[in-house]
Amino acid sequence: MDNFGKSSRFKRKVLIVDDEMINREILGNILETNYDVCSCENGKQALEILSESRVHFSLILLDLIMPEMDGFELLEIMQKNENLSSIPVIVMTSEKTAEVKSIKLGASDFITKPYDLPEVILARCERIIGLYEKNSIIRSAEKDELTGLYTKEFFFEYIRQFERFDCTKSMDAIVINIEHFHTVNEMYGREVGDEVLRRTAEVLTQRFEDVDFIGCRTDADSFYLYVTHLDNFEDLPDELSNAFGQNPDFPQVRYRMGIYQDVNKDVPAEDSFDHAKIACDKIRGDYTKHIFCYSQEMSDKEVYHERLIRDIESSIRNKDFIVFYQPKYGIQGERPCLQSAEALVRWKHPELGMISPGEFIPLFEKNGLIQKLDRYVWEEAAEQIRKWREKYGVTIPVSVNVSRVDVYNPEFKNILDDILSEAEITSRELMLEITESAYSEDAEGLIRLIDNLRDKGFKIEMDDFGTGYSSLNMITTIPIDVLKMDMKFIRNMHKDEKSLKLVELIVDIAKFLKVPVVAEGVEEESQVNTLKKMGCDLIQGYYFSRPVPPEEFEVLIEKELNSQS
Ligand code: C2E
Ligand code: CA
Ligand code: CA
Repeated sequence: MDNFGKSSRFKRKVLIVDDEMINREILGNILETNYDVCSCENGKQALEILSESRVHFSLILLDLIMPEMDGFELLEIMQKNENLSSIPVIVMTSEKTAEVKSIKLGASDFITKPYDLPEVILARCERIIGLYEKNSIIRSAEKDELTGLYTKEFFFEYIRQFERFDCTKSMDAIVINIEHFHTVNEMYGREVGDEVLRRTAEVLTQRFEDVDFIGCRTDADSFYLYVTHLDNFEDLPDELSNAFGQNPDFPQVRYRMGIYQDVNKDVPAEDSFDHAKIACDKIRGDYTKHIFCYSQEMSDKEVYHERLIRDIESSIRNKDFIVFYQPKYGIQGERPCLQSAEALVRWKHPELGMISPGEFIPLFEKNGLIQKLDRYVWEEAAEQIRKWREKYGVTIPVSVNVSRVDVYNPEFKNILDDILSEAEITSRELMLEITESAYSEDAEGLIRLIDNLRDKGFKIEMDDFGTGYSSLNMITTIPIDVLKMDMKFIRNMHKDEKSLKLVELIVDIAKFLKVPVVAEGVEEESQVNTLKKMGCDLIQGYYFSRPVPPEEFEVLIEKELNSQS
C-alpha cells in the first residue's frame, strides 16, 4: 500500500545553482521533501543540465556570484531562449542593488542570504511555481493554437477589458464564415483546410494592423472580429478569397460576412456578435451577396418573430387561430356554382391583433412548428365540414394546405386518419393542397405518398402551379386530381401577352392531364370571362369572395342552396 505514498508521488523538479556546497545542502534539505532537487555549481553547468534534461524544471534557485558563469549571465541567456525563459527563477542574494538588475533580466523573486526560516523559503517556491503554472494554462487557453487568434471565451473577456479602458470608440462586430468549409476539408484534406484557416487569420490580422482589432476563431470556420468602425469593407471577402492567389493546390474559398456596425455598448458584446451572426447567416448559400449588414429593422423583425414562436403553442390552445374559408366556384355552367372551399388560417393574436399567414407561415415552415398549426387547421376544417353537413345536409368539400414538412412526417397518414375518425367525415370530403415546389425535392417519395393517399380516397390539389420547376415530364407522372394555377399568372393576364399565353398553356396542361384547373386570385369580371372561354373549370378569388369566417361563409352556402331550389 505504501507504494502509493509519498515516494511515488509526482514531484516537480527544482534546480539549485550555487557554488558553495553548504548553501546547496541547506536548500536541498529544505526542498527535498516536496521537490525533486538537482543542483550544480555555476551557470555553465546549469545550462548543460537544462539543455540535456528531458524533464521540465519547475523552478531554478540561482546564486548570483559564481565562477565560470555567474547568475546574471545565466539569466541573460535564459531570457533570450524561448524554452528557458518560461522557467521561473528565484535569485539568492544579500545585496539590494543586485535585485533591480536581476528583475530586469527576468528573475521572479528573491531569497535573501542568510537564509530565512525553511517554511518561508518553501512557501516562496510554492507560490512562484503555482503562479507560473496558472499563467501558462491561461496562455494556452486564450489562444487558438492553429491561427493564433483568441478563443471565444477570451475574445469576449478582452473586449470587456478594451471597453473598460476606453468605451468612446465606435466599433464594429464582424462575423466571417467560410462557405462550405467541410467540403474543403473533404476534398483537399485537413492540412489544406488548416492552411486555409491560418491564411484567413493572417490576412485579417494584417488588414487590421493599424486599427484596434480583437479577433477570434470559433466553430471551426467562423471568425469574429471586433474592430474600429469601418466605412469601407466591401472588398474584404474578395481580399480573403484572393489570398491564395491562383495556386491550383488550393481551393477557391468563398467567404460571407455579417456586420453589426457601430455596436451598441449598452448590451453585452455577445449580443452584438449574435446580431452579426444573424446577418451572416442570412446570406448563407446566396452567391450574389458576400456581405450583409445588421439593421434595426432586422432586429425588430427578429424580436417579432421570437414573439410569434413563443406564442404559437398557447394560441393553439386558446384557439386564437381562426380558420377562414374562401369559396371555389365552378364557372363552366350557366351560372357560377359554389363547389368547395379552401381553409386559410388567420391569427387573432390577443395582443398583436390580426396577423396574416404571410407573416407567420413562412416562419413556422422554417422551424417546423407549422406541423402543429397545420394539424390544428385540419382538425378545425374537418369539424366544420361535419357541422355544415349536419346543418345543410350536403358536403362542402374543404381543402387544407399541406406543408412540405408535413409531407415528410412519417406520421402524416396516421394523423389524417385520426382527424377523419374524430370528426366523423370521409377522405372524400377533406382535400389536400400540396404546393408544387414540394414535388421537386423528393419527387419519388412524394409520388409514393400521394398514390397512397389517393388509394385512401383523398383528392390532391397541386397548389401554386407554375412557381415550382416541375418539368412537363414530371407533371405527367405525378398523380394529382386538381391543378391550382398560381396567382401571379392571373394578376398579369391582361397586362402582358406572355402571362396570358401561360394561363392558356396551364389550362391546356390540365386538359391533357384530364384534371380540373383552378384559377386563384381572380378579382375582375374580365378575368372570369377570359378564363371561362379558355375552359378553366374553377375560380377562387376576391371576385367571388375573400376568405371569410364560417358564419359569413354560411351566407354563401345558403345563397347557393336557394338558387338551386
Ligand atoms: P395559398 O395556399 O396560395 O392561398 C391563397 C392565398 O391567396 C390566400 O392568402 C388568399 O387569401 C389569397 N387570395 C385569394 N383570392 C385572392 C385574390 O383575388 N386576390 C388576392 N390578392 N389574393 C387572393 P392568405 O390567406 O394570406 O394565405 C397565404 C398563404 O399562406 C397561402 O397561400 C398558403 O400558402 C399559406 N397558408 C394559409 N393558411 C395555411 C395553413 O393553414 N397551413 C399552411 N401550411 N399554409 C397556409
Ligand atoms: Ca393553398
Ligand atoms: Ca395557391
